[in-house]
Parts: sequence; C-alpha cells; structure tokens
Amino acid sequence: MKYLTAIGLEVHVQLKTRSKMFCGCAVEFGAPPNSLTCPTCLGLPGALPAMNHEALRLTALTGLMLGCDIAPVCNFDRKNYFYPDMPKNYQISQYDLPICENGRVPLHEFAYPKDAQRQIAAPDKKVRLVRIHLEEDVAKSFHFETSTGIDFNRAGTPLMEIVTQPEIHSPEEAFAFLTALKQILRYGAVSDADMEKGQMRCDCNISVRPITQQALGAKIEIKNMNSISGVRRALAYEVERQNAALARGETLRQETRRWDDDAGQTFLMRTKEMAHDYRYFPDPDLLPVKSEGLLDEVRALVPELPGAKRARFIAQYQVSAYDADVLVDDLDLARYFESAAHGARKPKHLANWILNDLQSALTHHGLTIANSPIAPGALDELVNLIHDRRISSTQGKEVFAEMFASGKSAGTIVQEKGIAQLSDTGAIEALCEQVIAAHPKPVADFRGGHAASLNYLKGQVMKLSQGQANPGLVGEILKRKLK
Ligand SMILES: [Zn+2]
Repeated sequence: MKYLTAIGLEVHVQLKTRSKMFCGCAVEFGAPPNSLTCPTCLGLPGALPAMNHEALRLTALTGLMLGCDIAPVCNFDRKNYFYPDMPKNYQISQYDLPICENGRVPLHEFAYPKDAQRQIAAPDKKVRLVRIHLEEDVAKSFHFETSTGIDFNRAGTPLMEIVTQPEIHSPEEAFAFLTALKQILRYGAVSDADMEKGQMRCDCNISVRPITQQALGAKIEIKNMNSISGVRRALAYEVERQNAALARGETLRQETRRWDDDAGQTFLMRTKEMAHDYRYFPDPDLLPVKSEGLLDEVRALVPELPGAKRARFIAQYQVSAYDADVLVDDLDLARYFESAAHGARKPKHLANWILNDLQSALTHHGLTIANSPIAPGALDELVNLIHDRRISSTQGKEVFAEMFASGKSAGTIVQEKGIAQLSDTGAIEALCEQVIAAHPKPVADFRGGHAASLNYLKGQVMKLSQGQANPGLVGEILKRKLK
C-alpha cells in the first residue's frame, strides 16, 4: 500500500514594530524580565487596548507581497482560554474576518535543502495560503528547578499568523516553504524571521492516508517548532511513524505532539478530546478596521521580490542561477552587487570576486557586507585592471588583500607597489625577439616539435622583463613568432 502525505503549516511571525500591538511598551530583545510592561499588556482589569497601526501596515504589506486578497474590513476577536502566561484569560486575535485571505508562496530550487535540490518533486510549486491574521503574543514562561517565572516583556507584541493549505507533500517542501517565506518577509522588512531567536515559530499539521483515499487522514499537530531544519526532521519522523502505523493496520487519531530534537522523536501531548473550545467573540474594546487607507499607504512599499530579483540578475548581469540565488538571499549582498555591477563591463567577474574573495575575507574578519572595507565601485576597478591585463589575476589577489586591509583603491596600490603588468605588445615583442636571437637551440627544438621548449623561452622573457610581462601575452607572441 502507498501513502500520501499532506502537510499544512501555521507560521507565527513577530513583526518588526517599535511598540507592542495594543499599548505603547517597547518591543525589544534582551531587556531585563518584566521591564517592558504596562497595565494593558499585563492584562490588569480596566486597561484598554489601542491599535498599533504599524502592525496593521506590515501585515497588509505581507499580504500584498504574497498576493493575498486584503479584506475591506477586518475585525479583532477574543480567543478565550486560561493559561498563566496570559492573565486576561483571552488573547486578542482575528477569527472570521482576518486581514488577508488566499495568496501563495513560490518555492524555488535553492530554497530546498542542498541534498534535495536534485530531486524536486514539483518544480516551481506555489504553496497556497488560507489566511494571514494578526494577534498579540503571550508572555514567556521560564521553568526553574522548583518554580516557574513569567516574563511579560513578550506579552502583547504583534504576531502575524500565516496559515497554508494542507498541500505541502514532503518535509523537504516544508523546508523550502519556510526558507522562501523568510526571505520574502526580510525583503519587506516585516520581520527578521529568525527562527532560532523565536521571531518565526511554526506549528505543523501532518496527515497520512492511503493513496486510494480521497479525504485527508487524521490531523496530527506538532507544536512550536523553532528551526527550519528541525521542522524537516520532525516531519520526516512523523511521515515514517504514521506510515508504519497505517501499515500495521492501526487507526490514527487527531492529536497534538511535541518534537524532541535531541531524542529525534515526537511525543504525545494531548488528544482531540482535550482540545479547547475558544468561544471567540468580537472584542468590544476594538473597532473593526477598514483597509482602504491602509492599502494606499502600503502599496508603495512593496519591494522587488526575491524571485523577480533572481531572474533579473541572471538576465541583466549574466550571472549563473546559483550565484544569483546566493546574491539575492541576503538583501545587503544583493544591493552591494547591484551597486558594483551597475555599468560594470564584467558583472559576472564581479559576482565571482564578491562571492569568493570578499565573502571569505569578511567572514575571516567577522564582518558583514554592510561594513565591508571595500566599496562596491572599488571592486569594479580591480576587476577592470585584471580584465585589461594591467595586472595578472595572481597580482589581483595581492591587490585585493591590500585593498581590504588599507581601504586604498586598486589603482593607487598598483602604482605604489609598482606591480603593474607589462601589457604593451610592442615592448613584449621586442623582448621576445631578443630571447629568440639569444637562444637558438631551444628555438630549433621547439620548431622541431619539442613543445616544452616554449616554457623555457617564456621563462627567459619573463626574466628579462623582471617579472612584469603579462605571461599570457608572452606565450601568444612567442608562439606567433616561432611559427
Ligand atoms: Zn504595555
């Protein structure tokens, strides 16, 4: 029996706002526990929420970037449940009128895990979304040996929830979805979407069914995943576990499980019988929001998205698909490249220098592209010096190292060090003639078919030029003269 896997993801994204969703407290990481609080985000009786419009704008911008339908009017509701990290006993969320519906996230080859890029089941797949809504985050619990502490700094920070259709069919596709989504969110400056920092968290719904069955299998949820590779591992484990259970003739039930990355296993948390009934109702303290004005503000902010930028880099600068992907993955890197490549004669060579020499020098010195000691234009000058054969590529490496260390321009370094390469054809011809006249034996050997003699003659010319002659040119000219 063959089985089909259907995966749906619910992704929570912390928005990059300066203040919280319904109060003026700052959103900040690493502040002392409970230092960023007020009566509203502590849930004290009588405190009233006031809407953060920046959070609405960022959510609408996300909707536009992902091709969603933006609702003309959206509403905020109370989701009722009890938990110590939420003293109001309800979370403000959106139920039947979310800001965004539909939309999709395009998956591209390089978003997949490296080892899976050669066998992509559905190339250029677009994962459809059900909705995107806005809500407030809850506080964070810290479990100590004999007690639990709660930090309310996170309580009330704006959280966007992105819900997909259950049409992801493998752990690798889930990985690609999260990678592609993260990239788009960063492009819009909506969120840094760093899963390790909890800025993006993910619940996975997974169900497996016999290939002959139409209806989805029992929905099994894995809660609170906090790394993209962890999502892949957890889903791979669940696909196998559920396949094996069905193969043994067991019936799977709807349940919630927890992934333990160290153990490499999921564990049962609760079954459907224990599921909550949230008794949603419209929050009487918050008015419905019209999106008309919001959309006017946000339309101009939609950036060129990673997919479009990738295609444009390939067409405009003739870089390889792989190079384009690496450049586009980091917006600062893409900007650096573009600013160097604009009007450049050899944009492809520039990409090579940026992705190899510059990137490794930056990593070595603990720097990022944003504080690179070499300006984009300066790198273009270096590439042109090599291309024009004013310096050899080996000399280019030397000049590059000096540029990185001193911040001086390539032209200045070449002049100061006197490392310009002799590329004057006339001068090299004269040197070649001198060497040919002085070494009749190797000349005769070469003409007699002894190809290696050319290297000897080449060496003599280089020596005569005190290492300054362009070796490529010397070889070409010697060969021509010895014909
Ligand atoms: Zn507050």
